[in-house]
Amino acid sequence: MPADAWHARPTADVLAALGTTDLGLSTEVAARRLVEHGPNALPQHGGESALSILVRQFHNPLIYVLLASTGLAILTGKVFDGLVILGVVVLNAIIGFVQEYRAGKAIQALSAMVPQLATVLRDGRRQSLPAADLVPGDVVALQSGDKVPADVRLLEARTLKVEEAALTGESVPVEKGPAPVDADAGVGDRRSMGYSGTLVTYGTGTAVVVGTGARTELGRISALLKEADDLETPLTKQLGVIGTWITAGIVAVSVVLLAVGLLRGYPLGDAVLAAVTLAVGAIPEGLPAVVTIALAIGVQRMARRRSVVRKLPAVETLGSTTVICSDKTGTLTKNEMTVQALWTPAGAWRLTGVGYAPEGALVTDDGVAVPGPVPDAVRALLTAGALCNDATVERQGDAWALTGDPTEGALVTAADKLGLEAEALRVSHPRLDAVPFESERQYMATLHREPGGGQAIYVKGAPEAVLRRCALPEGGAERAAVLAEVERIAAQGMRVLACGVRRPGGSHAELAESDVEAGFTFLGLQGMIDPPRAEAVEAVRACRAAGITVKMITGDHPETARAIGEALGLADPGEEAVTGAELGRLSDEALREAAARHNVFARVAPEHKLRLVQALQARGEVVAMTGDGVNDAPALKQADIGVAMGITGTAVSKEAADVVLADDNFASIAAAVEEGRRVYDNLIKALAFLLPTNLGLAVILSVAVAFFPIVGGEALLPMLPVQILWINLVASVALALPLAFEAPERDVMRRPPRRPDAPILSRFVVGRTVAVALLMAAGAIGLFLNEYREALAAGVEAAAALGEAQTMAVTTVILFQIFYLLNCRSLKESVLQIGLFSNPWVYVGIGSLLVLQLGFVYLPVMHAVFGSAPIPAHAWGEALVVALVVIPAIGLEKWWRRRRAGA
Ligand code: ATP
Repeated sequence: MPADAWHARPTADVLAALGTTDLGLSTEVAARRLVEHGPNALPQHGGESALSILVRQFHNPLIYVLLASTGLAILTGKVFDGLVILGVVVLNAIIGFVQEYRAGKAIQALSAMVPQLATVLRDGRRQSLPAADLVPGDVVALQSGDKVPADVRLLEARTLKVEEAALTGESVPVEKGPAPVDADAGVGDRRSMGYSGTLVTYGTGTAVVVGTGARTELGRISALLKEADDLETPLTKQLGVIGTWITAGIVAVSVVLLAVGLLRGYPLGDAVLAAVTLAVGAIPEGLPAVVTIALAIGVQRMARRRSVVRKLPAVETLGSTTVICSDKTGTLTKNEMTVQALWTPAGAWRLTGVGYAPEGALVTDDGVAVPGPVPDAVRALLTAGALCNDATVERQGDAWALTGDPTEGALVTAADKLGLEAEALRVSHPRLDAVPFESERQYMATLHREPGGGQAIYVKGAPEAVLRRCALPEGGAERAAVLAEVERIAAQGMRVLACGVRRPGGSHAELAESDVEAGFTFLGLQGMIDPPRAEAVEAVRACRAAGITVKMITGDHPETARAIGEALGLADPGEEAVTGAELGRLSDEALREAAARHNVFARVAPEHKLRLVQALQARGEVVAMTGDGVNDAPALKQADIGVAMGITGTAVSKEAADVVLADDNFASIAAAVEEGRRVYDNLIKALAFLLPTNLGLAVILSVAVAFFPIVGGEALLPMLPVQILWINLVASVALALPLAFEAPERDVMRRPPRRPDAPILSRFVVGRTVAVALLMAAGAIGLFLNEYREALAAGVEAAAALGEAQTMAVTTVILFQIFYLLNCRSLKESVLQIGLFSNPWVYVGIGSLLVLQLGFVYLPVMHAVFGSAPIPAHAWGEALVVALVVIPAIGLEKWWRRRRAGA
């Protein structure tokens, strides 16, 4: 048998071989082993390789046209122009590559923001540590929802099921147990092993770590597992399609231009040059870089606002979200539970105090202190709550710290407040076995040895689940009294848990679900408050103003849900909650209706969540849905935006989600929606800025070829291809990039969501493009002709005059772009309304461009490369005046659009 056939060896043998015991390692030994074995992490293989990103930059129809232009230019004798175009294509590819590479890296780095944790036994104590710190010999606890943190050999399992699709491709969960299997069993058949990266979907277990990091099965195949850090989104795809159409159009117009040129008697070289120049000018070369940057900035800003995007398309989809379905506990509420109401068949009481500090007293329902010893009925109720419980509450400095589930922590604190000391109870009533809490079952049960001999089974959970197991006759007065009390406590927004006990007789070592079916004595109810988060109330209001409906979906009691829904402002006063059971009885048709009409859903199981998402989507809604449990994964995948909880969420839910909330807070979803809308707005701004320049350049060229005179057998072109590339690459990129940093529009959360199928080339973008292009073309052509005429009149020889006039045309376009940029900073408002200096990057862009343009006009080396020439100072003045025209023109357009929108 090979030494590492862990799956085939008995557990004692495995533990001995790894130099450990079932109590795990000491911190000291673990630290030493960590140095020896290295961290439990896979070597970063960083998504797409750099080479393939670089190659992709050339794999683009626009680039094909540019490359073809290069060839044509060289063939027709314009070798220098051809080489410059080629140089610029390469430069452009490098810029695109650097941007994409950096954006990809930034997005990858985000995954580190949601670290994987593992529950480990160190120094004999259960601790939650980063999975990266695990070493061989560590003993880990596994439970449903966890990602298996390393390769492990099972020591103990309780109905443990693991989904190993990451490794075997098999998505049906496999049952696991400690019994050794055949030495030659394949990975998929090694039932005594758990493999790193697979997901626990059911049950619990403990296991010893046998392999970490690269020495896991996952590590061995990790080269095959390159995660698709896709930089494609619906928007970039739409842009890709548009790009193809633009290219086809450009090629067609270029051919026409070539024909017109030849018909008018252009020499072949000049006609080709004109056609090539047009192609170069009309292609929006800077666009891909701007889009990538805007998306990457969006992702980073969302991360700063506590939403970690796992899939890039989510950035855009968030902006068009119309419905957010949110969990209640911990997302909309604080998940800081305090027991305040106690009820037993012997009477009703209240507990004072808030939080986990065991400081408070028992008072009557009217607030009068209860003298003397704690009544027996209360004692029995609190004992059940403290024993059927996995949480601990400990003093840490001045504060009280909870380990475990807040619902259970509240029960511990309640017992401690009345001097019952949960820890002492757990020692005097040792636990023998347990049926853990699962949302579907809504109860938890534990088996204990009692101090006086004998055994007891305690159960606690949702009142319906506990009452079903108690000897309170259906329809009887006692049961009715309990149910009325549940309603009364829940109506105050409290979560209600019931407790029961059964003394089975005999001696049992194990507790099965069948042992907790019936025969319990009902002990009473504990009602706990869980206040709404203040920022959630605010965020719900913001969402409503933004045309987004917020729906609360909770496992809690309908009355509790209704009261909290009302406090959060997402349900109207008196609006009833719909329960999961009611949803289950509805036809698909009726469900669609109910899903749209109601905002509070209670006692909802994960499968109802899935149906709710589907029903809402069938009505055309774009749905964001939160979830934390294993069984929420299908609903998270089905939703347009699946949102998982970073702190309390299971690994399974995070894996299925598009977005992970670092703070589990509903307000972070609202913030992410705002960022999503901003990213989209900024992309539209960049588009509305870039496209007019391209169309404008095409118009300038077309007018020149069709109408300008032919001087001395040579075509008179207002710009050379290299000059056009200068405008397109240097100016457009320097100016458009700052738009990605633009602050959100002031009405960003006061307007309805964008329709997800709305075209990006909207009437607004097209109209704006045509209008600005014509204005820009008219200005540039006018000043070109004027400068050319003046220079000739001043006795400058023809070639030099042409250079000067061309420089004038380029300068005019660039100044025009600078002023137009200021207008593009807001879609609707004027520059002054949004604040001239609110985005300093704009001025960084303008400043650098002006320096570059001065170089273009005055530096001899630029003259050599770009064919530019110095122009006199008064020419700058003229260009400035003409360019300034764009400000009142766009001001007028915005005013008109605002008026129409207001009317
Ligand atoms: P939400 O969906 O709003 O986040 P939730 O997920 O906290 O709510 P569940 O955890 O499914 O809801 O709880 C459903 C019900 O199960 C609760 O109303 C409560 O009565 C009961 N319950 C919750 N936690 C426990 C527990 N640890 N032990 C026993 N019963 C519990």
